[in-house]
Amino acid sequence: MEYRNNTQGEETLSALGYGCMRFPKKGNSIDMVAVEEQILYAIEQGVTYFDTAYVYPGSEEALGKVLQKNQCREKIKIATKLPHYLVKKQGDFERYFQEQLKRLKTDYVDFYLMHMLPDTNVWNKLIGQGVLEWIKEKKEMGQIRKIGFSYHGNTTTFLEVLNAYEWEFCQIQYNYMDENSQAGRTGLLEAAKKGIPVIIMEPLRGGMLANHLPKKAMDAIETAYCKRSPAEWSFRWLWNQAQVSVVLSGMNSMEMLQENIRIASETMPGQFTNQDEAVIEQIRTAMNEQTKVPCTGCSYCMPCPFGVDIPGSFRCYNVSYTDGYGKGLMEYLLCTTLRNKQSSASLCKECGACEPHCPQSIPIRSQLKQVKKRFENPVFRIVSKIIKRLYR
Ligand code: SF4
Ligand code: SF4
Repeated sequence: MEYRNNTQGEETLSALGYGCMRFPKKGNSIDMVAVEEQILYAIEQGVTYFDTAYVYPGSEEALGKVLQKNQCREKIKIATKLPHYLVKKQGDFERYFQEQLKRLKTDYVDFYLMHMLPDTNVWNKLIGQGVLEWIKEKKEMGQIRKIGFSYHGNTTTFLEVLNAYEWEFCQIQYNYMDENSQAGRTGLLEAAKKGIPVIIMEPLRGGMLANHLPKKAMDAIETAYCKRSPAEWSFRWLWNQAQVSVVLSGMNSMEMLQENIRIASETMPGQFTNQDEAVIEQIRTAMNEQTKVPCTGCSYCMPCPFGVDIPGSFRCYNVSYTDGYGKGLMEYLLCTTLRNKQSSASLCKECGACEPHCPQSIPIRSQLKQVKKRFENPVFRIVSKIIKRLYR
């Protein structure tokens, strides 16, 4: 495992961080046997950073149980997040934090984040509710070691949030498709200049850069000078940058964990050659040519009160441009009509509830109209009826 030190000599963190949002499941519950096996393997292989959040269902509890059972709390750093959007009054900071300590079966948190801090207005509102006094108290008591924030949004606002407080670390969405969006490379460099660790989330853009690359991008990967998976190209691009401290990966299988540990152990900053850059550029060009809606599939916009499968609709819409109209239409039919409940774009009532939650700032309502226009023609309606009769 490679370790990175971006905190003015204080802290060394494993280059690979364990994203605990997508623990393996058995039916509807977290598979504790698999989780324990994977967490212990990760620790044994030198992963020291584990990222969870109050709002990840069952995640804090699962992590806490494994750490307590195996007496390995001290071997790792726990990062978890305050759901500040649920805070209504001053006492709520402490209430949520104590609940988190209980779930995690610990008496301190190493890295505590304001979860998805959107702008300085929200930060100022939290200051008005007493967050600074509360942080000071928790730090004095040793219950919070470092304070930071996670961020989805544009570069300008990121820089405002970054400069609004003496943050000790930050977490940003970053990958080769977001080099010039989100906090972007500018944000990464600015944060690194302050000497704080920069934790990377969405290295594969919600899985899109691993599993949903267009054919032209896959061709670039398959004909590249060396054999690497799409995910490996993404991770290597990130770890090539010295300003990147930890790259989080939501690992939910042993194979994925072993593969990511291998890449994290092999990749050092500054290793990328011109040949590597050229492959990334080819993938990026292919993506930009064909991706119509920059949806990462994160599902923060869900559930839609009217039943629209928003990420599914956008994925099929993009597939219809990247892999052909027929494939996109077929996937759209499968995704919207072969379900107990219809979930097509035409169900959208334009209430707007989803849009503020979208980290990519996608105008969801107008884009869903485009999806409807592209797919929901008379042929779609006839085929849809036939499929329903055949399969129900
Ligand atoms: S705007 Fe449309 S897709 Fe978004 S929540 Fe409302 S009905 Fe659902
Ligand atoms: S529309 Fe936005 S919030 Fe919804 S899945 Fe896509 S990127 Fe995520």
